[in-house]
Amino acid sequence: MSIINYQFSIMFKSLLSNFLHLIYPHNCEGCGTDTLNKDSFLCAKCLYELPETGFIGVAENPLEKKFYGRIRFEQAGSGYYFNKHGLLQHLIAELKYKNNKEMGFYLGKLLGYQLLATNRFDEVEALVPLPLNIKREHKRGYNQAQLICEGIVSVWKKPIINDAITRIIYTETQTNKNLSNRWENVEHAFALTDDTKLKGKHVALVDDVITTGASIEACGTELLKVEGLRLSVLSVGFTS
Ligand SMILES: [Zn+2]
Repeated sequence: MSIINYQFSIMFKSLLSNFLHLIYPHNCEGCGTDTLNKDSFLCAKCLYELPETGFIGVAENPLEKKFYGRIRFEQAGSGYYFNKHGLLQHLIAELKYKNNKEMGFYLGKLLGYQLLATNRFDEVEALVPLPLNIKREHKRGYNQAQLICEGIVSVWKKPIINDAITRIIYTETQTNKNLSNRWENVEHAFALTDDTKLKGKHVALVDDVITTGASIEACGTELLKVEGLRLSVLSVGFTS
């Protein structure tokens, strides 16, 4: 390529990028700056400030303590603290209520990098996204836990098993229910549909945010009916 062509090509690329930016603005979900990687939803500063739990690689962490005495599990871990009005809450809302599917993949990928950095979950053989009930999945068009799993396995290579367990009862939104009501609400909400893929496997059940852990407990209890299954638990967000 001649030098003139080269300069023209650089100029054209830069014009094209400015033009695309005008029609498809790409700004940080945290602070609004447009100085960020095109594959990222957060600029370097906001990503750094996203409150990492730092406990995914640690045994007896707060998520594990949440499940003590409730369910038999191998390891449990969450990537980030989920605080009311915090940045993660905003990102999760984008995923669940604003039809932003790429956000699920992005958050899953961030969790995947944390899993790569610890060896605590190395024995996990497959990921199981927490099933959404069919009615809500149809309304939303996707299961956010499935998207998170896809993001995780893009960096932490494991298969996803999403056709072995289903949610059978349409539960009301859980936001305003206390722990015991939530448990009654989800206790019989899950059913195995095909246990052959799960037999003898160590699987990690994955959800977006774990608050009371009632859904994980109910779904995990159903999964543990499978012969030889070992259960671990993973989530992007954690709240106490
Ligand atoms: Zn930012």
